[in-house]
Amino acid sequence: MSLKDDYDFSVIENTIKDHVIDILEEELVGRDDICQCEECLIDIVCYALNRIKPNYSASLYGALYSRAYAENNSEDIRKTVTDAIDFVSSNASHDKK
Ligand SMILES: [Zn+2]
Repeated sequence: MSLKDDYDFSVIENTIKDHVIDILEEELVGRDDICQCEECLIDIVCYALNRIKPNYSASLYGALYSRAYAENNSEDIRKTVTDAIDFVSSNASHDKK
């Protein structure tokens, strides 16, 4: 008997994750110079999310707040995402393909 058995905590999401993925998609356009395999893109998103203040939410209110937060901080988030692309593409976790 534990809280985790009785309650569904999987509804809790870091709402910044969606924004990071959207910005990553924009930043990857035309970047033929970097690996875009799933492993690298997930590494990029993790690198960025570890450096951006999270916004956990399980409610519509939280999602709306998050949209406002992301819009107000979109340049900082974009800068962190481009740093993440630079870092991961020069330190790929797999052998060169
Ligand atoms: Zn890769």
